[in-house]
Amino acid sequence: MPLVTMKQIMADSVKRATTDVDPAERYAVGAFNFSTIPEMVGIVEGARSKNAPVILMASLGAIKYIGSLELIAETAKGIAKTYPEVPICLHLDHATDMEQIKQAVVAGFTNVMIDASQEEFEVNIAKSKEIADFAHNHSPYGINGCSVEAELGMLAGHEDNIHVEESGKAYTDPALVKEFVTKTGIDALAVAIGTAHGFYKAAPEIQFDLLEAIRKETDIALVLHGGTGVPEDDFRKCVAMGMSKINVGTGLKKVYTDAVREAIKTLPETEYDPRKIAGPGRQAIAKEIASKCDLFNCTGKTPDVLKSIYA
Ligand SMILES: [Zn+2]
Repeated sequence: MPLVTMKQIMADSVKRATTDVDPAERYAVGAFNFSTIPEMVGIVEGARSKNAPVILMASLGAIKYIGSLELIAETAKGIAKTYPEVPICLHLDHATDMEQIKQAVVAGFTNVMIDASQEEFEVNIAKSKEIADFAHNHSPYGINGCSVEAELGMLAGHEDNIHVEESGKAYTDPALVKEFVTKTGIDALAVAIGTAHGFYKAAPEIQFDLLEAIRKETDIALVLHGGTGVPEDDFRKCVAMGMSKINVGTGLKKVYTDAVREAIKTLPETEYDPRKIAGPGRQAIAKEIASKCDLFNCTGKTPDVLKSIYA
């Protein structure tokens, strides 16, 4: 199966989030950061083991490290061919450079995030709209071959090129949501409701009443950033209240590195095979993704996702 857009991969989840279904039937699609190509494969293997759709998330740091947008896009395309049973979306995370975002669309990313959340509201609208118009019309996969996520409000924490102090954070204002979504034409909205990027110093206080208010304002997909270290019950509650995508980055880096460190510690010093050293990292990632699929209630949802895309 070719790569699918975020709009497609979340359509079934969004439908459940915005209609009167049993909250226990709702689920979010996991979006996972990678830094290396083997991690991309590990993420997809984890999703496959749970018959779940998955979003591969490239940060600006990952692009720099791996080499180029094109290298990542072509690799993701190859992974999609290798794992045809898994619905996969390739997503550019937290981008601010308009030209780079357009380049990602042309390279074959199937979702891009324009993060102009630090700008004035009107500028955020203008930039997000420019990207939405471009992405919907310039994907090599055709019209609407790439969808768009934008952010309203500001998360505290550190994410590659973006750093927001705790004092500088701003919750998403529900009163602005409808106007923002309508004027920009975006497909998914990242909201700031109390989570943060990176590791938490103290447990986050998620503003569930705010989530409820935002959910009422729009019927596009809502996205939760800062998914590392959020208590499991809070995740479940967010999903039941209509969150359709959950981003996890920082925690995966730890899972990967812990596994590699352990391998180096246990293997004899004469072992030089990178597959034996880094391989456990990829396996640990797959295991972690599998458990996140369970937590986000996304396990076994591939048939429903495919039905909503290809029906
Ligand atoms: Zn984020």
